Amino acid sequence: MVTSVDCVVRGSPDLSCIYVDSMLGWLAKFLRIVFGLRVIYRPDLEDRELSTTPCLVVTMDGELFKIRKAPTVLFKTGDHVKWIAAFIHMGAVPFARSLCPTCGGELARVDCREAEQSVGHEIRSSQCWRCMSCSQVYWRGSHWRRITKLVEEASTAEIICLHID
Ligand SMILES: [Zn+2]
Repeated sequence: MVTSVDCVVRGSPDLSCIYVDSMLGWLAKFLRIVFGLRVIYRPDLEDRELSTTPCLVVTMDGELFKIRKAPTVLFKTGDHVKWIAAFIHMGAVPFARSLCPTCGGELARVDCREAEQSVGHEIRSSQCWRCMSCSQVYWRGSHWRRITKLVEEASTAEIICLHID
């Protein structure tokens, strides 16, 4: 039987400083809102910065993984549930805190009536937030149930990650 590897981990990942490769924008947003992790993600990130930073780098690029010396996670699967499972295995705690998924800024609770005025339509939620940096408004709606379900699936998902020095 051939077992496929979902990820390869180099070194000991420290979640206090994370670069997410430009192809993994979905993951960058998810790490911010669900785990409250500080993620550096820009579509124009230069290869040089990604290859030399001492921070953890998360990528699907095998070439980048090969030239990295510092902690790196190489995903070999496109399965979002497995990506999140890998972060839970690395010690990330779901729903402990949240940062703005768009810019990584701090979120502040706001009254949902105030949030409705910002977005210009009714919000069917009693929990609303505003980003202190980019002013984007967030609330817990149907998308939040999808996020919760994905985290539940990830908590029990079986993944195979190889660890190397
Ligand atoms: Zn923001």
